Amino acid sequence: MPPTNNTDKRLADYEQRYRELAAQLASIGLIHSGSLTRRYTRCATPGCKCHADPPQPHGPYYQWTAKINGKTVTRRLSETEAKLYEEWIANDRQLRHIIQQMRQIAAKAAELKLKQATNS
Ligand SMILES: [Zn+2]
Repeated sequence: MPPTNNTDKRLADYEQRYRELAAQLASIGLIHSGSLTRRYTRCATPGCKCHADPPQPHGPYYQWTAKINGKTVTRRLSETEAKLYEEWIANDRQLRHIIQQMRQIAAKAAELKLKQATNS
């Protein structure tokens, strides 16, 4: 069976979507691995505001955590640093999301192309 116009149309659609995603990749900002946590703590000092009613815990404290070569690495961050990390980590998540979509589209397009190649 020769490749139908329908197959060509689907391939063209995949191609276009794929290019759109690639363009999004090109404009992505800095990326960073790991994750951020924001914590509030209570100390051991009696009468401290963190034990008041209502309690006013210490913080927020920001920490970055990542696994590097199988080891968990942590770093204390200032609020300013945390905001930057937050942005970079969000970019990293978006990057992986885009690549995942590209893989799915590429797999579908590859299937169609393989069918065309064996049928021609
Ligand atoms: Zn305290």
